[in-house]
Amino acid sequence: MTDGAERAGTAEPRPMDARKLAAARLWATAPHRFPYLASALFALPVQEVPGLGGVQVDERWRLYVDPDVTHRWTVEELGSLLVHHVGHLVRDHSGRAHSLGITGAAQARWARAADAEINDDLADAGLKVPGTSVLPEDLGCERNRLAEEYFHAESKIEAESESESEAKGEGESEPKSEPPAPECGSGAHGQRGPHEPPDDPERDGSDEGGPRPRPPEGGLSQHEGDLVRAQVAGALREAARAGIGVVPAAWQRWASDLLEPRVDWRRALGAEIRRSIQSVTGAVDYSYRRPSRRASVSRNVVLPALHRPVPEVAVVCDTSGSMDDDDMGRILVEVEGILQGAGLRRTGITVLSVDAEVHAVSRISRAAQAALVGGGGTDMAKGIAAALDLRPRASIVVVLTDGQTTWPTEAPRNVRVVIGLIGAGPREARAAPAWARVVHIDGA
Ligand SMILES: [Zn+2]
Repeated sequence: MTDGAERAGTAEPRPMDARKLAAARLWATAPHRFPYLASALFALPVQEVPGLGGVQVDERWRLYVDPDVTHRWTVEELGSLLVHHVGHLVRDHSGRAHSLGITGAAQARWARAADAEINDDLADAGLKVPGTSVLPEDLGCERNRLAEEYFHAESKIEAESESESEAKGEGESEPKSEPPAPECGSGAHGQRGPHEPPDDPERDGSDEGGPRPRPPEGGLSQHEGDLVRAQVAGALREAARAGIGVVPAAWQRWASDLLEPRVDWRRALGAEIRRSIQSVTGAVDYSYRRPSRRASVSRNVVLPALHRPVPEVAVVCDTSGSMDDDDMGRILVEVEGILQGAGLRRTGITVLSVDAEVHAVSRISRAAQAALVGGGGTDMAKGIAAALDLRPRASIVVVLTDGQTTWPTEAPRNVRVVIGLIGAGPREARAAPAWARVVHIDGA
């Protein structure tokens, strides 16, 4: 940004090149770039801030632009920066910073972490964002993680270097030179800059009562921001389906999380399995097979015993080439825990390894002992059919798969099928039949 000095003092500050900024929005939302960001990019009210030195966003989706940079930077650079800033806003980096309680010195670390979360995808897409080049590897991290992870990695490094310098008696020395923090505005880190208007208390959901003031002119309210996020997520998913534009995997994950809020799969799967057990055993069978203990009390009457059959459970494991053995092993152990927690005996669980064929059937006492063999194509229909051929017949079948499989075309009769769909990729890539109960397992 030193080239700005060339003109310093030689000319009146020029007004913003509004046409160039408009061209930058069109550049960013071109069909082969980020068309799904249009609702966000065109929602940003623009405010000129001479001397700002760059472009920033605030928590109200306002875009602050130093008019000077609209002359110095190309349409491509401005457009790339707009995509970057929209990344801060739709991913709610400021809200996430608030929930981590980030203030003061930690703000710079968060700013770098938030930028790293955005920039890896943009670098992959060939974008060059002026003013920020922080990548996850600069923070000693792998790509495609969340800002929270980058932030904690940075904080850890800092704590270690502080304790090192204390050990050397350098406690009072200057802190080690940190890499420069990008300045993207409160929309990235939640700390209001001097050019930003005083915020309204609505942001923090203030409980102080009374009418909530409207957001300052031009900004979006919390609710309006959420609506734009939902619009972008929906458009992004459509674009990914239709193969339009650049849709990085991390953005797809973000859209999936927003549109289908993640629940702990262990709880969800546990709830489904308990529900299945209830529906299987719920039809109370007043059986005369076992005499009730009370029968001895009322001698003349034989009371029926309340007989609840223990359901037989079969776990069908997809062991095709697309599945990771370690993941499956870990998930299987969790499932065993869920089944036991639901009151099932260990011996009542049968595990079937299935790819295109049924390979191993083991009646297990510990899930970890189950031999998982396979590696070919995938046909879970065969696995479910094999589970129903077991004697005693399974009344609950839990299928663990990545969904890249053939399914029975119709719901199998007299059995509850719970499908655990495993995988970290976009959920639309995984399929399960409508007749089954489905739980998304996002990570083992
Ligand atoms: Zn940034």
